[in-house]
Amino acid sequence: MPTERETLELPIGGMDCASCVTSLEKAIRGLPGVWSVEVLLGAEKAVVQLDPARVGREEIRKAIRQAGYTVPEAPSHQGEPPVAARINFSRSLLTVLGLVFGTVLFVVVIGEWLGLFKVVTRWVPFPVGLALVLAFGYPIFRGVVQATLRRKVTSHTLMSVGVLAALVIGQWATAAVVVFFMRLGDYVEKLTAGNARKAVRQLTQQAPQKARVLRNGLEMELSVGEVVPGDIVVVRPGEAIPIDGEVVAGQATVDQAAITGESMPVEAVPGSRVYAATLTQLGALKIKATQVGRDTTFGRIIKLVEEAEANRGEMQRMADRFSGYFLPAVALIAAITFLLSHNVLATAAVLLVACSCSIALATPVAVLATTGAAARRGLLIKGGKYLEALAKADVLLVDKTGTLTLGRPQLTDVVSLGAFPKTELLKLTASAERYSEHPLAQAVRQAAEERSITLLEPKDFESVPGQGVRAMVDGHEVVVGSRRMVPVEGYDTADLEAQGKTLLFVTIDAQLSGILAAADTLRPEVPEALRKVLSLGVNKVELLTGDNEPTAAALAKSLGVSYRANLLPEDKIAIVKDYQAQGHTVVMVGDGVNDAPALAQADAGMAMGAAGTSVAVEAAAVALLREDWSLVPQAFEMARRTMGVVRMNLGLTALYNLVGLTLAALGFLPPVLAAALQSIPDLGIMANSSRLIRQR
Ligand code: ADP
Ligand code: MG
Repeated sequence: MPTERETLELPIGGMDCASCVTSLEKAIRGLPGVWSVEVLLGAEKAVVQLDPARVGREEIRKAIRQAGYTVPEAPSHQGEPPVAARINFSRSLLTVLGLVFGTVLFVVVIGEWLGLFKVVTRWVPFPVGLALVLAFGYPIFRGVVQATLRRKVTSHTLMSVGVLAALVIGQWATAAVVVFFMRLGDYVEKLTAGNARKAVRQLTQQAPQKARVLRNGLEMELSVGEVVPGDIVVVRPGEAIPIDGEVVAGQATVDQAAITGESMPVEAVPGSRVYAATLTQLGALKIKATQVGRDTTFGRIIKLVEEAEANRGEMQRMADRFSGYFLPAVALIAAITFLLSHNVLATAAVLLVACSCSIALATPVAVLATTGAAARRGLLIKGGKYLEALAKADVLLVDKTGTLTLGRPQLTDVVSLGAFPKTELLKLTASAERYSEHPLAQAVRQAAEERSITLLEPKDFESVPGQGVRAMVDGHEVVVGSRRMVPVEGYDTADLEAQGKTLLFVTIDAQLSGILAAADTLRPEVPEALRKVLSLGVNKVELLTGDNEPTAAALAKSLGVSYRANLLPEDKIAIVKDYQAQGHTVVMVGDGVNDAPALAQADAGMAMGAAGTSVAVEAAAVALLREDWSLVPQAFEMARRTMGVVRMNLGLTALYNLVGLTLAALGFLPPVLAAALQSIPDLGIMANSSRLIRQR
């Protein structure tokens, strides 16, 4: 029986800690009929694959609520105030009082511990102190009780045991200070998680919320959600375009930075395609909407950035596994400490100093910061997995036509070899190429057009990827393509090929009838970009092309890289696999359409100039939204920087826990100090990762 699969997206509120992700995923995965689930911290949503016959939206909502989170009606990041304002910790006078009181108490308790003053806290009767602790810690204790009822142990559970221990031996002041720091720690954690979302949110905020639409001759202002494809949208100078569409009237310069990261504006005239979230500068436009909302290029970019988090790298998987063992380990260390020393304070300190959340936060916070920052400059990186691959990569494979070259070849020579004079040869060839999308086909058609040749209608058109085309034109069988497609013997082409030109061989009725030569221009920024990539740990760059040997050789030599020519698309896949089998990590840059399979096989495939072609955006691990090679070394650099930060984050957390737990177990750390140190790793992670949001 075929089973149904449906994808459901649910917004989630209240995820302020990375271990929330793991525990919530576990809770949802436990339901019958759920195939898979990804909980995304940055996008604050869950993407669930389910069998609609066995489980419904309501059951999943219930499970989420039971796990202690909320399910808001709309995605949380639409028109929402910034993170800090949402956090109710900073709500009122109470908070200020709490802060002052907590700090004073902390100083007093530390003072007593150091022996500076002895008696202060003993003046207060114990029941008063107890009441203070309970009032202060109410939200925390309530959470712990709820979790315990669900048979779950959280880091707060362990810390509450520590608080209890302090109360048992009559130290209410210690307990109060500990609770104070627990709440402060929660706040820092919320800030850290919120900080991680900042990069994604900065991106989504570029999307306009309102659109001015012409309906029945009237101009009305609607929210973007109400615009439908086919509507005519009016955009005035300085406004953001709310939809993807085609200009029907007007003229303007448009800043497309939101999509491509390129701030140089482009000219939009009737017939031009324009994209949502880009800005008109001079001039007004009337645009016929073709895509709206989530279907726009910008909408898809946002979705991909949000969901990038689901592509977790090995590093994060390890950290997640490790954090699963962390709490039991801490409980064990506490138990051993108590058994060996009978020191309640040391035991409490062990429970209080451990910081589990930062282990789970270390990776996603850095990855989110980078993917968000990268997307704003036209570089779409789909997750930690690919950042890891980019940081580790040692082999870079590059496609030639359309990737290294501009992909706008010009026909330079037409050589007639048989019965057909040049004009006739070009007419038949261009007609055969009439429906090919290949840049070379365009070059042939353009040459025909320049000579005012009218094309004929081809029949039985067949395109062989990476080789050429075949068609019947005016009763002749015309074949155009590389040497693979058209075996050529006994004709000396060395002259043309030595100039680095691409040769197209033409047979008409199985007779070699002509050779066309096309020259394509190397993208000017390529040499510099390759030099940078080579300085970033990649030690082999190889040119892969379906073009002829001498042409490839000439280009490869000028760039100082190795090459392989005469390749079919499947040869490119085989080469990628070969390198991988030898233990290399392979990044491939290609044009996204032709090379999609090889890009998918690479550890990280980069699609060049992907804006506007949804196939390429979706197929590649990294989409370069504008045709600019300088993005390639940037991707490598950002990946290395991110992995550096992740390693630093994890190292910091490990070191903190190691030193903290040791000192606590040996009784060198009073519980208050242990609790106060708690937020250090979180603060460190936040500071570290903020650098990534701003990276250049
Ligand atoms: P690359 O691997 O450099 O990107 P392609 O795989 O797109 O190049 O094409 C490889 C070769 O196949 C071209 O150099 C050309 O000789 C031939 N070819 C492909 N498509 C066509 C076409 N439509 N017309 C003529 N030749 C073609
Ligand atoms: Mg190509």
